[in-house]
Amino acid sequence: MIADLILKNANVITLDPRQPTAELVAIKGDKIWLVTNNEKLESVKGAKTRVIDCQGKTVVPGFNDAHCHIFSFIRNLLSLDLSPSSVSSIAEIKAAIRQRVQNTSPGKWLNADGYNEFYLAEKRHPNRWDIDEVAPKHPVILAHRSLHACVLNSLALSLAGITIETPDPVGGLIDRDLNTGEPTGLLFEMLGYIREKVAPPLTEEELAEGMTLASQHYLAYGITSLQEATVSNDFNRWQTLHQFKDKLKSRVSMMFGIDAIGQFQEAGLAMGAGDSQLRLGGVKIMLSEVTGQLHPPQPELNEQALGAHRAGFQLAIHAVEPSTVETAISALEYAHSHSPEAGRRHRLEHCSVCPPRLLERLSRLRAIVVTQPPFIYYSGERYLAQVPTSQLPWLYRIKSFLDSSLVVAGSSDSPVVPDNPLVGICAAVTRQAESGQQLLPQECIPAEQALALYTINAAYASFEEGVKGSITPGKLADIAVLSDDPTQIPPEQIKDIRVEMTIIGGKVVWEA
Ligand SMILES: [Zn+2]
Repeated sequence: MIADLILKNANVITLDPRQPTAELVAIKGDKIWLVTNNEKLESVKGAKTRVIDCQGKTVVPGFNDAHCHIFSFIRNLLSLDLSPSSVSSIAEIKAAIRQRVQNTSPGKWLNADGYNEFYLAEKRHPNRWDIDEVAPKHPVILAHRSLHACVLNSLALSLAGITIETPDPVGGLIDRDLNTGEPTGLLFEMLGYIREKVAPPLTEEELAEGMTLASQHYLAYGITSLQEATVSNDFNRWQTLHQFKDKLKSRVSMMFGIDAIGQFQEAGLAMGAGDSQLRLGGVKIMLSEVTGQLHPPQPELNEQALGAHRAGFQLAIHAVEPSTVETAISALEYAHSHSPEAGRRHRLEHCSVCPPRLLERLSRLRAIVVTQPPFIYYSGERYLAQVPTSQLPWLYRIKSFLDSSLVVAGSSDSPVVPDNPLVGICAAVTRQAESGQQLLPQECIPAEQALALYTINAAYASFEEGVKGSITPGKLADIAVLSDDPTQIPPEQIKDIRVEMTIIGGKVVWEA
Protein backbone atom coordinates (compact mmCIF):
# COMPACT_ATOMS: atom_id res chain seq x y z
CA MET A 1 0.00 0.00 0.00
CA ILE A 2 1.13 3.53 -0.83
CA ALA A 3 -0.10 6.77 0.81
CA ASP A 4 -1.65 9.64 -1.19
CA LEU A 5 -0.57 12.30 1.28
CA ILE A 6 1.97 12.21 4.08
CA LEU A 7 2.56 14.73 6.86
CA LYS A 8 6.08 14.15 8.18
CA ASN A 9 8.25 15.77 10.87
CA ALA A 10 5.06 16.72 12.64
CA ASN A 11 4.30 17.18 16.30
CA VAL A 12 1.10 15.18 16.09
CA ILE A 13 -1.36 15.52 18.97
CA THR A 14 -3.78 12.74 18.08
CA LEU A 15 -6.45 13.11 20.84
CA ASP A 16 -6.46 9.31 20.76
CA PRO A 17 -5.44 7.98 24.20
CA ARG A 18 -4.15 4.74 22.67
CA GLN A 19 -1.43 6.69 20.87
CA PRO A 20 -1.37 10.30 22.08
CA THR A 21 1.53 11.54 19.94
CA ALA A 22 3.24 10.71 16.65
CA GLU A 23 5.54 12.21 13.99
CA LEU A 24 3.99 11.07 10.75
CA VAL A 25 0.45 10.78 9.41
CA ALA A 26 -0.15 8.84 6.19
CA ILE A 27 -3.42 9.43 4.37
CA LYS A 28 -5.01 7.23 1.74
CA GLY A 29 -8.12 8.47 -0.05
CA ASP A 30 -10.20 10.46 2.41
CA LYS A 31 -9.04 8.52 5.47
CA ILE A 32 -6.14 8.40 7.86
CA TRP A 33 -4.18 5.26 7.10
CA LEU A 34 -1.17 5.26 9.43
CA VAL A 35 -0.13 7.29 12.44
CA THR A 36 3.47 6.52 13.13
CA ASN A 37 7.06 7.81 13.29
CA ASN A 38 9.31 9.36 10.64
CA GLU A 39 11.24 6.11 10.12
CA LYS A 40 8.23 4.60 8.35
CA LEU A 41 8.28 7.27 5.61
CA GLU A 42 10.03 5.27 2.88
CA SER A 43 7.85 2.20 3.36
CA VAL A 44 4.60 4.10 2.67
CA LYS A 45 5.77 6.65 0.13
CA GLY A 46 5.34 6.09 -3.60
CA ALA A 47 6.20 8.09 -6.70
CA LYS A 48 2.88 9.93 -6.63
CA THR A 49 2.68 10.52 -2.88
CA ARG A 50 2.57 14.16 -1.83
CA VAL A 51 4.81 14.61 1.19
CA ILE A 52 4.42 17.68 3.37
CA ASP A 53 7.32 18.43 5.69
CA CYS A 54 5.69 19.99 8.76
CA GLN A 55 9.10 21.06 10.16
CA GLY A 56 8.06 20.30 13.69
CA LYS A 57 4.74 22.14 13.47
CA THR A 58 1.80 20.84 15.48
CA VAL A 59 -0.84 18.69 13.81
CA VAL A 60 -4.25 18.24 15.44
CA PRO A 61 -7.63 16.87 14.36
CA GLY A 62 -9.66 19.49 12.46
CA PHE A 63 -11.78 21.64 14.77
CA ASN A 64 -15.48 21.01 15.24
CA ASP A 65 -17.69 23.95 16.27
CA ALA A 66 -20.48 22.12 18.10
CA HIS A 67 -23.00 24.98 18.07
CA CYS A 68 -23.12 27.73 15.48
CA HIS A 69 -25.48 29.49 13.09
CA ILE A 70 -24.20 29.33 9.52
CA PHE A 71 -26.98 31.33 7.86
CA SER A 72 -26.85 34.23 10.34
CA PHE A 73 -23.11 34.28 9.85
CA ILE A 74 -23.61 34.50 6.10
CA ARG A 75 -25.96 37.46 6.57
CA ASN A 76 -23.24 39.15 8.57
CA LEU A 77 -20.64 38.46 5.92
CA LEU A 78 -22.80 39.87 3.11
CA SER A 79 -23.78 43.05 4.92
CA LEU A 80 -21.90 46.28 4.56
CA ASP A 81 -19.78 46.72 7.67
CA LEU A 82 -20.56 49.96 9.52
CA SER A 83 -18.89 49.05 12.78
CA PRO A 84 -16.78 51.72 14.54
CA SER A 85 -13.61 50.13 13.15
CA SER A 86 -14.86 50.81 9.59
CA VAL A 87 -16.71 54.16 9.77
CA SER A 88 -16.52 57.14 12.11
CA SER A 89 -19.13 59.54 10.72
CA ILE A 90 -22.44 59.69 8.88
CA ALA A 91 -20.49 61.11 5.94
CA GLU A 92 -18.44 57.91 5.85
CA ILE A 93 -21.58 55.79 6.14
CA LYS A 94 -22.98 57.63 3.12
CA ALA A 95 -19.78 57.11 1.16
CA ALA A 96 -19.79 53.40 1.95
CA ILE A 97 -23.43 53.04 0.90
CA ARG A 98 -22.86 55.07 -2.27
CA GLN A 99 -20.07 52.70 -3.25
CA ARG A 100 -22.14 49.59 -2.52
CA VAL A 101 -25.10 51.00 -4.49
CA GLN A 102 -22.97 51.34 -7.62
CA ASN A 103 -22.53 47.55 -7.75
CA THR A 104 -26.11 46.71 -6.84
CA SER A 105 -29.03 46.68 -9.23
CA PRO A 106 -31.85 49.14 -8.38
CA GLY A 107 -34.63 47.72 -6.24
CA LYS A 108 -32.37 45.21 -4.53
CA TRP A 109 -32.24 45.42 -0.73
CA LEU A 110 -29.01 46.65 0.75
CA ASN A 111 -28.08 45.55 4.26
CA ALA A 112 -25.56 47.34 6.44
CA ASP A 113 -24.68 46.25 9.97
CA GLY A 114 -23.02 47.50 13.10
CA TYR A 115 -23.33 51.30 13.23
CA ASN A 116 -23.22 52.86 16.66
CA GLU A 117 -24.23 56.52 16.93
CA PHE A 118 -22.07 56.90 20.03
CA TYR A 119 -18.95 56.47 17.91
CA LEU A 120 -20.09 58.68 15.00
CA ALA A 121 -18.71 62.23 14.74
CA GLU A 122 -22.25 63.63 14.50
CA LYS A 123 -23.30 61.78 17.69
CA ARG A 124 -26.70 60.95 16.22
CA HIS A 125 -28.40 58.13 14.35
CA PRO A 126 -28.41 58.41 10.56
CA ASN A 127 -31.92 59.06 9.18
CA ARG A 128 -33.90 58.20 6.04
CA TRP A 129 -32.91 61.44 4.31
CA ASP A 130 -29.19 60.81 4.85
CA ILE A 131 -29.53 57.45 3.11
CA ASP A 132 -31.95 58.69 0.42
CA GLU A 133 -29.24 61.09 -0.77
CA VAL A 134 -26.98 58.20 -1.77
CA ALA A 135 -29.51 55.39 -2.32
CA PRO A 136 -32.85 56.67 -3.63
CA LYS A 137 -33.52 53.57 -5.74
CA HIS A 138 -32.54 50.81 -3.30
CA PRO A 139 -34.35 49.82 -0.13
CA VAL A 140 -31.67 50.16 2.59
CA ILE A 141 -31.62 48.87 6.13
CA LEU A 142 -28.94 49.87 8.62
CA ALA A 143 -28.85 47.67 11.70
CA HIS A 144 -27.62 49.19 14.93
CA ARG A 145 -24.82 47.34 16.67
CA SER A 146 -27.19 46.42 19.51
CA LEU A 147 -29.75 45.01 17.03
CA HIS A 148 -32.36 46.92 19.05
CA ALA A 149 -32.63 49.71 16.49
CA CYS A 150 -32.40 50.09 12.73
CA VAL A 151 -32.70 52.85 10.14
CA LEU A 152 -34.65 52.47 6.89
CA ASN A 153 -34.47 54.81 3.92
CA SER A 154 -37.67 56.12 2.31
CA LEU A 155 -38.02 53.29 -0.18
CA ALA A 156 -37.62 50.64 2.54
CA LEU A 157 -40.11 52.48 4.77
CA SER A 158 -42.70 52.54 2.00
CA LEU A 159 -42.14 48.81 1.26
CA ALA A 160 -42.70 48.21 4.98
CA GLY A 161 -45.90 50.26 4.77
CA ILE A 162 -44.70 52.68 7.42
CA THR A 163 -46.19 56.16 6.91
CA ILE A 164 -47.03 59.20 8.98
CA GLU A 165 -50.31 57.46 9.90
CA THR A 166 -48.74 54.19 11.13
CA PRO A 167 -49.09 53.79 14.90
CA ASP A 168 -46.21 52.40 16.96
CA PRO A 169 -46.43 48.60 17.04
CA VAL A 170 -46.66 46.74 20.36
CA GLY A 171 -43.16 46.70 21.87
CA GLY A 172 -41.74 48.87 19.09
CA LEU A 173 -41.24 52.56 18.42
CA ILE A 174 -41.24 54.60 15.22
CA ASP A 175 -39.09 57.71 15.63
CA ARG A 176 -40.76 60.83 14.16
CA ASP A 177 -39.79 64.35 13.13
CA LEU A 178 -40.91 66.64 15.96
CA ASN A 179 -42.38 69.28 13.63
CA THR A 180 -44.02 67.22 10.91
CA GLY A 181 -44.65 63.85 12.59
CA GLU A 182 -43.02 62.17 9.58
CA PRO A 183 -41.11 58.92 10.43
CA THR A 184 -37.36 59.64 10.41
CA GLY A 185 -36.49 56.08 9.40
CA LEU A 186 -35.21 55.17 12.85
CA LEU A 187 -37.10 52.22 14.30
CA PHE A 188 -36.69 50.64 17.72
CA GLU A 189 -37.24 46.91 18.39
CA MET A 190 -38.47 46.36 14.84
CA LEU A 191 -35.39 44.91 13.13
CA GLY A 192 -36.57 41.29 13.45
CA TYR A 193 -39.94 42.15 11.94
CA ILE A 194 -38.37 44.05 9.03
CA ARG A 195 -35.89 41.27 8.27
CA GLU A 196 -38.42 38.44 8.51
CA LYS A 197 -41.55 39.99 7.08
CA VAL A 198 -40.48 42.85 4.83
CA ALA A 199 -36.99 42.26 3.43
CA PRO A 200 -36.66 39.27 1.08
CA PRO A 201 -34.79 36.13 2.15
CA LEU A 202 -31.27 35.68 0.79
CA THR A 203 -31.29 34.98 -2.94
CA GLU A 204 -29.59 32.00 -4.56
CA GLU A 205 -26.68 34.21 -5.64
CA GLU A 206 -26.33 35.73 -2.19
CA LEU A 207 -26.40 32.29 -0.64
CA ALA A 208 -23.79 31.05 -3.10
CA GLU A 209 -21.54 34.02 -2.46
CA GLY A 210 -22.10 33.84 1.29
CA MET A 211 -21.41 30.10 1.43
CA THR A 212 -18.14 30.61 -0.43
CA LEU A 213 -17.06 33.41 1.91
CA ALA A 214 -18.15 31.49 5.00
CA SER A 215 -16.37 28.37 3.80
CA GLN A 216 -13.07 30.24 3.33
CA HIS A 217 -13.49 31.72 6.79
CA TYR A 218 -14.11 28.35 8.47
CA LEU A 219 -11.16 26.73 6.68
CA ALA A 220 -8.83 29.56 7.66
CA TYR A 221 -9.61 28.75 11.30
CA GLY A 222 -9.16 25.00 10.85
CA ILE A 223 -12.88 24.37 11.37
CA THR A 224 -13.55 21.16 9.45
CA SER A 225 -16.92 20.40 11.06
CA LEU A 226 -19.88 22.58 12.04
CA GLN A 227 -22.98 21.77 14.04
CA GLU A 228 -25.77 24.06 12.86
CA ALA A 229 -28.01 24.81 15.84
CA THR A 230 -30.69 27.16 14.51
CA VAL A 231 -34.13 26.42 15.95
CA SER A 232 -35.92 27.46 12.73
CA ASN A 233 -34.03 24.85 10.70
CA ASP A 234 -36.39 22.60 8.78
CA PHE A 235 -36.51 20.37 5.71
CA ASN A 236 -36.08 23.42 3.47
CA ARG A 237 -32.86 24.35 5.24
CA TRP A 238 -31.68 20.79 4.86
CA GLN A 239 -32.23 21.02 1.12
CA THR A 240 -30.46 24.38 0.93
CA LEU A 241 -27.45 22.91 2.69
CA HIS A 242 -27.57 20.01 0.26
CA GLN A 243 -27.60 22.41 -2.64
CA PHE A 244 -24.46 24.19 -1.40
CA LYS A 245 -22.53 21.09 -0.39
CA ASP A 246 -19.74 21.82 -2.86
CA LYS A 247 -19.40 25.46 -1.75
CA LEU A 248 -19.29 24.83 1.99
CA LYS A 249 -16.26 22.57 2.39
CA SER A 250 -16.60 21.96 6.13
CA ARG A 251 -18.83 19.08 7.17
CA VAL A 252 -22.18 19.98 8.69
CA SER A 253 -24.42 18.28 11.18
CA MET A 254 -27.78 20.08 11.12
CA MET A 255 -30.09 20.23 14.12
CA PHE A 256 -33.67 21.33 13.51
CA GLY A 257 -36.72 22.68 15.32
CA ILE A 258 -39.23 20.31 16.95
CA ASP A 259 -41.98 21.48 14.56
CA ALA A 260 -40.03 20.07 11.62
CA ILE A 261 -39.77 16.55 13.03
CA GLY A 262 -42.72 15.38 10.88
CA GLN A 263 -41.14 16.79 7.71
CA PHE A 264 -38.04 14.66 8.21
CA GLN A 265 -40.02 11.58 9.16
CA GLU A 266 -42.14 12.00 6.03
CA ALA A 267 -38.96 12.21 3.96
CA GLY A 268 -37.78 9.01 5.62
CA LEU A 269 -34.86 10.73 7.35
CA ALA A 270 -33.90 9.56 10.82
CA MET A 271 -31.32 10.88 13.27
CA GLY A 272 -27.90 10.61 11.59
CA ALA A 273 -29.31 10.42 8.05
CA GLY A 274 -27.19 11.84 5.24
CA ASP A 275 -23.47 11.30 4.86
CA SER A 276 -20.21 12.50 6.36
CA GLN A 277 -20.54 15.86 4.54
CA LEU A 278 -24.11 16.70 5.61
CA ARG A 279 -25.73 14.81 8.41
CA LEU A 280 -29.04 15.16 10.21
CA GLY A 281 -28.54 16.04 13.86
CA GLY A 282 -30.96 16.23 16.75
CA VAL A 283 -33.96 18.32 17.70
CA LYS A 284 -33.23 21.81 18.98
CA ILE A 285 -35.60 23.31 21.54
CA MET A 286 -35.35 26.90 22.78
CA LEU A 287 -36.24 27.21 26.44
CA SER A 288 -36.48 30.81 27.56
CA GLU A 289 -37.61 32.92 30.43
CA VAL A 290 -37.52 36.36 28.79
CA THR A 291 -41.00 37.47 29.87
CA GLY A 292 -40.53 36.12 33.38
CA GLN A 293 -42.38 32.94 32.44
CA LEU A 294 -40.96 29.72 31.12
CA HIS A 295 -41.53 29.15 27.46
CA PRO A 296 -42.46 26.43 26.73
CA PRO A 297 -43.86 25.59 30.18
CA GLN A 298 -42.62 22.42 31.88
CA PRO A 299 -45.54 20.11 30.93
CA GLU A 300 -45.30 21.09 27.26
CA LEU A 301 -41.52 20.72 27.24
CA ASN A 302 -41.86 17.29 28.88
CA GLU A 303 -44.12 16.07 26.09
CA GLN A 304 -41.88 17.55 23.37
CA ALA A 305 -38.83 15.91 24.93
CA LEU A 306 -40.56 12.56 25.27
CA GLY A 307 -41.86 12.73 21.70
CA ALA A 308 -38.43 13.41 20.18
CA HIS A 309 -36.77 10.89 22.51
CA ARG A 310 -39.24 8.18 21.52
CA ALA A 311 -38.86 9.03 17.84
CA GLY A 312 -35.15 8.25 18.18
CA PHE A 313 -33.84 11.80 18.09
CA GLN A 314 -31.22 13.41 20.24
CA LEU A 315 -32.46 16.55 22.00
CA ALA A 316 -30.50 19.78 22.17
CA ILE A 317 -32.19 22.06 24.69
CA HIS A 318 -31.14 25.70 24.89
CA ALA A 319 -30.96 26.57 28.59
CA VAL A 320 -29.06 29.48 30.11
CA GLU A 321 -30.43 30.46 33.55
CA PRO A 322 -30.54 28.06 36.54
CA SER A 323 -34.34 27.90 36.22
CA THR A 324 -34.25 26.90 32.55
CA VAL A 325 -31.37 24.49 33.13
CA GLU A 326 -33.46 22.83 35.84
CA THR A 327 -36.54 22.72 33.59
CA ALA A 328 -34.49 21.14 30.80
CA ILE A 329 -33.09 18.53 33.18
CA SER A 330 -36.58 17.74 34.50
CA ALA A 331 -37.83 17.27 30.94
CA LEU A 332 -34.98 14.88 30.13
CA GLU A 333 -35.66 12.96 33.35
CA TYR A 334 -39.31 12.78 32.35
CA ALA A 335 -38.44 11.43 28.89
CA HIS A 336 -36.07 8.82 30.35
CA SER A 337 -38.54 7.66 32.99
CA HIS A 338 -41.32 7.16 30.43
CA SER A 339 -39.14 5.62 27.79
CA PRO A 340 -35.91 4.27 29.20
CA GLU A 341 -33.90 3.89 25.95
CA ALA A 342 -30.30 4.76 26.74
CA GLY A 343 -27.70 6.32 24.47
CA ARG A 344 -29.67 9.25 23.07
CA ARG A 345 -26.89 11.59 24.22
CA HIS A 346 -29.25 14.48 24.89
CA ARG A 347 -27.51 17.86 24.95
CA LEU A 348 -27.84 21.00 27.00
CA GLU A 349 -26.86 23.98 24.87
CA HIS A 350 -25.06 26.66 26.93
CA CYS A 351 -25.97 25.34 30.42
CA SER A 352 -24.57 28.68 31.51
CA VAL A 353 -25.35 28.59 35.23
CA CYS A 354 -25.29 25.11 36.76
CA PRO A 355 -25.28 24.87 40.59
CA PRO A 356 -24.09 21.61 42.23
CA ARG A 357 -27.53 20.07 42.76
CA LEU A 358 -28.29 20.40 39.04
CA LEU A 359 -24.86 19.15 38.08
CA GLU A 360 -25.58 15.97 40.03
CA ARG A 361 -28.85 15.39 38.16
CA LEU A 362 -27.16 16.18 34.87
CA SER A 363 -24.45 13.62 35.41
CA ARG A 364 -27.02 10.96 36.29
CA LEU A 365 -28.62 11.67 32.90
CA ARG A 366 -25.25 11.38 31.14
CA ALA A 367 -26.25 14.43 29.14
CA ILE A 368 -23.75 16.37 27.05
CA VAL A 369 -22.98 20.00 27.83
CA VAL A 370 -22.31 22.13 24.75
CA THR A 371 -20.54 25.17 26.12
CA GLN A 372 -19.08 28.39 24.65
CA PRO A 373 -15.63 29.15 26.08
CA PRO A 374 -15.25 32.23 23.82
CA PHE A 375 -18.10 33.85 25.82
CA ILE A 376 -15.65 33.93 28.73
CA TYR A 377 -13.18 35.81 26.56
CA TYR A 378 -15.56 38.22 24.80
CA SER A 379 -18.14 38.76 27.57
CA GLY A 380 -16.31 37.81 30.78
CA GLU A 381 -15.91 41.40 31.87
CA ARG A 382 -19.65 42.03 31.47
CA TYR A 383 -20.51 38.79 33.31
CA LEU A 384 -18.37 39.83 36.28
CA ALA A 385 -20.21 43.15 36.39
CA GLN A 386 -23.76 41.95 35.74
CA VAL A 387 -24.29 38.31 36.75
CA PRO A 388 -25.73 38.03 40.30
CA THR A 389 -22.96 37.07 42.76
CA SER A 390 -25.02 34.06 43.85
CA GLN A 391 -24.76 32.67 40.30
CA LEU A 392 -21.15 33.60 39.50
CA PRO A 393 -19.57 30.46 41.05
CA TRP A 394 -21.56 28.28 38.63
CA LEU A 395 -21.02 30.26 35.45
CA TYR A 396 -19.81 28.48 32.30
CA ARG A 397 -18.21 25.73 34.33
CA ILE A 398 -16.11 23.20 32.46
CA LYS A 399 -13.78 21.39 34.85
CA SER A 400 -16.65 20.50 37.24
CA PHE A 401 -18.57 18.96 34.36
CA LEU A 402 -15.56 16.95 33.19
CA ASP A 403 -14.83 15.86 36.77
CA SER A 404 -18.41 14.54 36.92
CA SER A 405 -17.69 12.43 33.82
CA LEU A 406 -19.92 14.54 31.59
CA VAL A 407 -18.91 15.01 27.98
CA VAL A 408 -18.37 18.71 27.27
CA ALA A 409 -18.22 19.98 23.69
CA GLY A 410 -16.85 23.40 22.70
CA SER A 411 -18.49 25.90 20.39
CA SER A 412 -18.83 29.58 19.51
CA ASP A 413 -22.54 30.22 18.89
CA SER A 414 -21.18 32.27 15.95
CA PRO A 415 -22.10 34.92 14.86
CA VAL A 416 -22.88 35.81 18.49
CA VAL A 417 -19.12 35.91 19.07
CA PRO A 418 -16.22 35.24 16.66
CA ASP A 419 -15.59 31.55 16.11
CA ASN A 420 -11.80 31.11 16.18
CA PRO A 421 -11.53 27.80 18.11
CA LEU A 422 -8.09 28.74 19.42
CA VAL A 423 -9.64 31.70 21.27
CA GLY A 424 -12.12 29.24 22.79
CA ILE A 425 -9.37 26.79 23.71
CA CYS A 426 -7.35 29.62 25.23
CA ALA A 427 -10.35 30.79 27.28
CA ALA A 428 -11.07 27.27 28.52
CA VAL A 429 -7.44 26.99 29.70
CA THR A 430 -7.01 30.49 31.17
CA ARG A 431 -10.63 31.56 31.92
CA GLN A 432 -9.44 35.04 31.02
CA ALA A 433 -11.63 37.75 29.55
CA GLU A 434 -10.32 40.09 26.87
CA SER A 435 -9.80 42.61 29.69
CA GLY A 436 -7.49 40.15 31.46
CA GLN A 437 -9.95 39.55 34.31
CA GLN A 438 -10.27 35.91 35.29
CA LEU A 439 -13.59 34.14 35.65
CA LEU A 440 -13.68 31.14 38.01
CA PRO A 441 -10.01 30.04 37.87
CA GLN A 442 -11.04 26.80 39.62
CA GLU A 443 -12.76 25.81 36.35
CA CYS A 444 -9.54 26.03 34.25
CA ILE A 445 -8.68 22.88 32.29
CA PRO A 446 -5.40 21.74 30.71
CA ALA A 447 -4.82 22.49 27.02
CA GLU A 448 -5.16 18.79 26.05
CA GLN A 449 -8.68 18.74 27.48
CA ALA A 450 -9.53 22.06 25.85
CA LEU A 451 -8.46 20.60 22.50
CA ALA A 452 -10.74 17.64 23.18
CA LEU A 453 -13.76 19.98 23.60
CA TYR A 454 -13.33 21.14 20.00
CA THR A 455 -12.43 17.76 18.49
CA ILE A 456 -13.26 14.35 19.94
CA ASN A 457 -15.91 15.59 22.40
CA ALA A 458 -17.64 17.68 19.74
CA ALA A 459 -17.63 14.61 17.47
CA TYR A 460 -19.22 12.59 20.27
CA ALA A 461 -21.93 15.24 20.60
CA SER A 462 -23.08 14.44 17.05
CA PHE A 463 -22.50 10.66 17.33
CA GLU A 464 -19.48 10.86 15.02
CA GLU A 465 -16.59 9.97 17.32
CA GLY A 466 -16.17 6.75 15.34
CA VAL A 467 -15.28 8.64 12.16
CA LYS A 468 -13.65 11.86 13.31
CA GLY A 469 -12.36 13.90 16.25
CA SER A 470 -8.98 12.22 16.60
CA ILE A 471 -6.03 11.33 14.40
CA THR A 472 -6.65 7.61 14.34
CA PRO A 473 -6.21 5.14 11.47
CA GLY A 474 -9.52 4.59 9.68
CA LYS A 475 -11.01 7.98 10.59
CA LEU A 476 -11.65 10.77 8.11
CA ALA A 477 -8.49 12.71 7.32
CA ASP A 478 -9.70 16.06 8.74
CA ILE A 479 -6.65 17.82 10.08
CA ALA A 480 -5.33 21.26 11.05
CA VAL A 481 -1.65 22.24 11.06
CA LEU A 482 -0.91 24.87 13.73
CA SER A 483 1.88 27.43 14.02
CA ASP A 484 2.47 26.46 17.67
CA ASP A 485 1.74 23.74 20.18
CA PRO A 486 -1.15 24.78 22.48
CA THR A 487 0.07 22.36 25.13
CA GLN A 488 3.57 23.87 25.24
CA ILE A 489 3.34 27.65 24.87
CA PRO A 490 2.24 30.02 27.68
CA PRO A 491 -1.56 29.55 27.93
CA GLU A 492 -2.48 33.19 27.28
CA GLN A 493 -0.72 32.91 23.89
CA ILE A 494 -2.88 30.02 22.65
CA LYS A 495 -5.37 32.46 21.13
CA ASP A 496 -2.62 33.84 18.86
CA ILE A 497 -1.77 30.46 17.33
CA ARG A 498 -2.42 30.51 13.59
CA VAL A 499 -3.78 27.73 11.46
CA GLU A 500 -1.28 27.10 8.66
CA MET A 501 -3.06 24.36 6.77
CA THR A 502 -6.47 22.72 6.80
CA ILE A 503 -7.14 19.26 5.37
CA ILE A 504 -10.59 17.77 4.87
CA GLY A 505 -11.07 14.21 3.68
CA GLY A 506 -7.39 13.96 2.75
CA LYS A 507 -7.46 17.10 0.57
CA VAL A 508 -5.55 20.25 1.41
CA VAL A 509 -8.40 22.77 1.30
CA TRP A 510 -6.65 25.78 2.81
CA GLU A 511 -3.08 27.00 3.20
CA ALA A 512 -1.82 30.17 4.89
ZN1 LIG B 1 -27.14 29.53 19.33
